[in-house]
Amino acid sequence: MSQHMTPDEFREYGRQVVDWVADYMEGVEKLPVRSQVAPGDVRAALPAHPPERGEGFGGVLADLDRIIVPGLTHWQHPGFFAYYPSNASGPAILGDLLSSGLGVQGMLWATSPACTELETVVVDWLAELLGLPDHFRTDNVGGGVIQDSASSASLLAILAALRRTGDAAEQGLTGRHTLYVSTETHSSLAKSARIAGIGADNVRVVGVDPATLGMDPERLDRMLAEDIAAGATPVLVCATVGTTSTAAVDPVRAIGEICRRHGVWLHVDAAYAGVAAVCPELRGLNDGVAEYADSYATNPHKWLLTNFDCTVMWVADRAPLTGALAIHPEYLRNAATSSGAVVDYRDWQVSLGRRFRALKLWAVLRWYGAEGLRDHIHKGLEQAARLTAWITDDPDFELHEPQTLGLVCFRPLWAGGDEDAATMRLMEALNDSGALYLTHTRVAGRVVLRMALGGVRTEAEHVRAAWEAIRAEHARTVVGETAVVTGRSDLIT
Ligand SMILES: *Cc1c(COP(=O)(O)O)cnc(C)c1O
Repeated sequence: MSQHMTPDEFREYGRQVVDWVADYMEGVEKLPVRSQVAPGDVRAALPAHPPERGEGFGGVLADLDRIIVPGLTHWQHPGFFAYYPSNASGPAILGDLLSSGLGVQGMLWATSPACTELETVVVDWLAELLGLPDHFRTDNVGGGVIQDSASSASLLAILAALRRTGDAAEQGLTGRHTLYVSTETHSSLAKSARIAGIGADNVRVVGVDPATLGMDPERLDRMLAEDIAAGATPVLVCATVGTTSTAAVDPVRAIGEICRRHGVWLHVDAAYAGVAAVCPELRGLNDGVAEYADSYATNPHKWLLTNFDCTVMWVADRAPLTGALAIHPEYLRNAATSSGAVVDYRDWQVSLGRRFRALKLWAVLRWYGAEGLRDHIHKGLEQAARLTAWITDDPDFELHEPQTLGLVCFRPLWAGGDEDAATMRLMEALNDSGALYLTHTRVAGRVVLRMALGGVRTEAEHVRAAWEAIRAEHARTVVGETAVVTGRSDLIT
């Protein structure tokens, strides 16, 4: 027997694996959403040493059921409302399997022309589906590229912006460079600032409008003027369309006008919310992007049915990005690159090697079509609207407004005491139940629960059941803590 899996063995085990995944899709609803293992449980169940002799594949599937699945949190569970959805759809999973099967490296056009050209086509398709401007298209001065994550996209935007401000790539940073975020911006910007050598102390945090939690453009303007007067070089402003905490939307147009005036790069982080623009009526989210954004990123791996990892990043002009990153060692020289007629995506990302991620996005776009994608977004919005109405009608809960897209944030009301601690206990009890999974954030100093709709398997009945569980647990907790809740008494006897 050859030590390699033969094509026939691959067929046999491959069918078992595909069946396993299909069974998982059918049965995931019966599993507890959040893993209930304690730290170290999974590790302790695994052998301390690797096998000396090959074991075949059957044992992997057996241990998957016995050890791995209990140690998983099921992101594809219909009761998963935590963080943001991380949708894995059938066509995306199959597209990824094909990518694994082909095992190509797409670092250069020459290392697999179709890997590059399909990616160019799907990112241009997605730009069209989202109504993004023509200059983001690869047949124009800009272009799109698939990155592993929105965090990488922000780092790359910073590197391109640094390139545009001078020759940091060659000489390193000289003088003080500054970056602008709001109190609500994703933490990846601060991390990227550290990685890029800008330094965490040079990340300037602009305050937000307390009503919308969107960045206050006037404060940004003032801060930029002060920093420039003090000799700093502003590198980039990050505006967010759909913050991680509450899905707040920064005023991109006003921010963009200020960036233009000061000559600063505008990056728009629309990781969660950007894909909602497949629905034409939601394109107002991107107001100002066409005129002012130098770069823009959104994650099909959150709400658009494509399994992780798949962030699409576009730049209005690709020259600063490739200028910052292109490097030409002898061993990668080839006629196609020298001709200048091809795109080499290694110059658009941090690493050299790259997966054939375009296959899964291509599979998704072809399977669902624009119509199917719009239906999926609409379904999440409808579920959010229903939940929002229930919360508004319930005197024991308070809705966080503005409620945006598929994210609903709310606060259970308590009759005094440490309300934040009570809310956290309520959330932990619900998450321990295994029926649903919620996360929290803090708004104006207070703990708020987040419920993100839009899961691939989440139907109206699951949202209803989750809401009933939340109400019942709140009522039970109120009784348990012998507090008196205002308003409703039907569940408290
Ligand atoms: C989720 C999220 C990110 C991080 O996304 P990754 O792709 O996991 O890096 C960044 N920004 C915002 C606004 C997000 O919601």
